[in-house]
Amino acid sequence: MAARPSHYLDDLNPAQRQAVETLEGPLLMLAGAGTGKTKALMARIAHLITKGRAKPYEILAVTFTNKAAREMKNRLAVTPFEIREPIRWMGTFHSLSAKILRKRAELVGLQHNFTILDTDDQLRLLKQLVRAADIDDKRWPARMLAGIIDQWKNRAWTPDNLPAAEATAYDGKGPALYRQYQTRLRELNAVDFGDLLLHVVTIFQKHDDVLAQYQRWFKYILVDEYQDTNVAQYLWLRLLAGGHRNICCVGDDDQSIYGWRGAEVGNILRFEKDFPGAAVIRLEQNYRSTPHILAAASGVIAGNRDRLGKELWTQAEAGEKVRLIGHWDGEEEARWIGEEVESMQRGTRGMRAFGLDDMAILVRASHQMRAFEDRFLTIGLPYRVIGGPRFYERMEIRDAMAYFRLVTSPADDLAFERIVNTPKRGLGDKAQQTIQRIARDNGVSLVDGAALAVEQGAIKGKGAAALRDLIVGLARWGRMTGDADLTHMELAEIILDESGYTTMWQNDKTPEAPGRLENLKELVKALEGFENLQGFLEHVSLIMDNETEEAGEKITLMTLHAAKGLEFPVIFLPGWEDGLFPSQRSMDESGTRGLEEERRLAYVGITRAEEVCTISFAGNRRVYGQWQSQMPSRFIDELPEAHVEVLTPPGLYGGNYGAAASGIETRAAEANVYNSPGWRRLQSRSGARPMSQPTEARSPVIDAQALSSHTVGERVFHQKFGYGAILGIEGDKLEIEFEKAGIKKVVARFITGADD
Ligand code: ATP
Ligand code: MG
Repeated sequence: MAARPSHYLDDLNPAQRQAVETLEGPLLMLAGAGTGKTKALMARIAHLITKGRAKPYEILAVTFTNKAAREMKNRLAVTPFEIREPIRWMGTFHSLSAKILRKRAELVGLQHNFTILDTDDQLRLLKQLVRAADIDDKRWPARMLAGIIDQWKNRAWTPDNLPAAEATAYDGKGPALYRQYQTRLRELNAVDFGDLLLHVVTIFQKHDDVLAQYQRWFKYILVDEYQDTNVAQYLWLRLLAGGHRNICCVGDDDQSIYGWRGAEVGNILRFEKDFPGAAVIRLEQNYRSTPHILAAASGVIAGNRDRLGKELWTQAEAGEKVRLIGHWDGEEEARWIGEEVESMQRGTRGMRAFGLDDMAILVRASHQMRAFEDRFLTIGLPYRVIGGPRFYERMEIRDAMAYFRLVTSPADDLAFERIVNTPKRGLGDKAQQTIQRIARDNGVSLVDGAALAVEQGAIKGKGAAALRDLIVGLARWGRMTGDADLTHMELAEIILDESGYTTMWQNDKTPEAPGRLENLKELVKALEGFENLQGFLEHVSLIMDNETEEAGEKITLMTLHAAKGLEFPVIFLPGWEDGLFPSQRSMDESGTRGLEEERRLAYVGITRAEEVCTISFAGNRRVYGQWQSQMPSRFIDELPEAHVEVLTPPGLYGGNYGAAASGIETRAAEANVYNSPGWRRLQSRSGARPMSQPTEARSPVIDAQALSSHTVGERVFHQKFGYGAILGIEGDKLEIEFEKAGIKKVVARFITGADD
């Protein structure tokens, strides 16, 4: 059968085709989201091979994630021409560097079978060095040092070429510790992630012959998502492309979202300077999204000053406007999205039906996923989490739950093993072996074994006192489970506080620590839906049992960062609230750098959508049982009105679920939702029905009830809170002082007269 070697060119537009056919010399494809940069890059690889310019193994293609590399390989596998050999050198900077380093390890004092440390190992090693240097690791946590060293490596700074300005880092001890750390790694025949690149750059810089060899080997270099390269990656590329200069980079300055990890958007902006004579190709036609979605994204990104500016157009039909919806609180938001997803599977609001694989929920921070995971598990909606463990698999969540498990079932030895020395109690391997032995000899649980060990003096010193505290604590918390005055949420907080677990993360100065504390707060929040700790733990163990990947369609949950380069017909963007998105950190920062990066993230989020994009926010989020008022994100204000449709949430007053259905609403929540300037702003600018006026959104059932004839002072009965007296009446809501439950606001229809 005759091959059709030019087939991959047929569905390219002229600009893309030019990018594919300009094979010699440096080329930059600089274009907005969804314009087919990645598609053109793939076609270019196909073209290079078909035209016989390079063998598959002579092409170096850099992708942003391993997943992207796999996807590209798959895409190439289906191109209608034969690539007999795999594109072996296609992968991330890290995976490609590891491959090069294996072959040349001896040049940086390593053996070819070096190990790659994960962040835990890295941290353990740094802790040893910090301790040996007599540094107070409370004030100067090893994690902080780990972060500093990572950033140095991102900038390609070795201990030998560290700028003088860094001398003060980590209390002035940073540079010396960095040198020790690198020495220690070498002794261990190990590297950390940053080393993979750094060592390769070092080799290339010091050994011209080796560099020349690789320059000859890789005849063509292609790089996707170029806007997110850091300095080390940039040097790596420049060195490799230095000979033939056949380098093709594609990117979008508006999608640079890894500045916090050392990425330099400047790399893309100075490409033409670095590679004089470079061809620059701009693509303007977007093939991914509808005009409304594109216009909304363009409207938001226009708020950034530091950008090149690009025009995007599409031939697609107008389609749906970007949908905007506000909710009472975060749980309500998750509930609504769950229901909306199910309706969209059937086809709703005049739209076609979508499959679960067509839909994704993109969050700013991973702790936001918990509410969705819980909701989806409850309603049995299949989902997958991309780029990170599911909520209940996270380290801090498993630690916290191990404490809860021990409190409710003291014989849970696995839980004991997990937390006995977390936080650090000075109970090392030896002490733990002693506990194990005593427990075994006496046929008792580890907790009881530990108690015996303390009694018998088998464990001594600081560890003994800490262990006694833990045992006494566990017993005390166990008794508290029976305390009627204490909610299990309060108990959970007490456990995490008194055990020192929360403090451990509060003292932790690393970038991950705030996220872990957030997750712990989320965990306590999750408890609210259950009778007690036991019930909650049961729920989670059932969830975990269902863990095995089942085949079939699933909705995708991931962070905005992980979604780069991907596309879905339907996108949900929840949590658009100031402080969450944009993040508090970016808002607190002086200058606009952080905020501009958040805005680019908003642009990335919206432009993932092909047909339907739904942005939402909640008026309230509960943190540690306290309502926190939320302001709609400033980015919502930046959405161009003509392309946005405001939806009315059913749950506020009318719908048969949510805060209204349980009859409980706090005054704080109400005051905030209806009076926040953000909310009012939102109503006034949209032609849609206002969301906040109870009379508008209220269902007929409640309307009738609102006319009910309760009077202030009347004694009434509520199913959940028992007897109480009415303090005030506002429409269909009653403020009641319950005899047992205190003052609450409830919806009138949940109330009966005390004598009925
Ligand atoms: P991002 O900036 O988000 O990474 P991108 O510029 O890499 O986007 P692609 O993912 O390559 O864009 O393409 C977006 C979508 O448009 C894909 O579904 C792709 O198949 C389609 N597409 C690209 N070019 C064309 C074309 N010439 N004709 C038809 N469809 C196209
Ligand atoms: Mg792309």
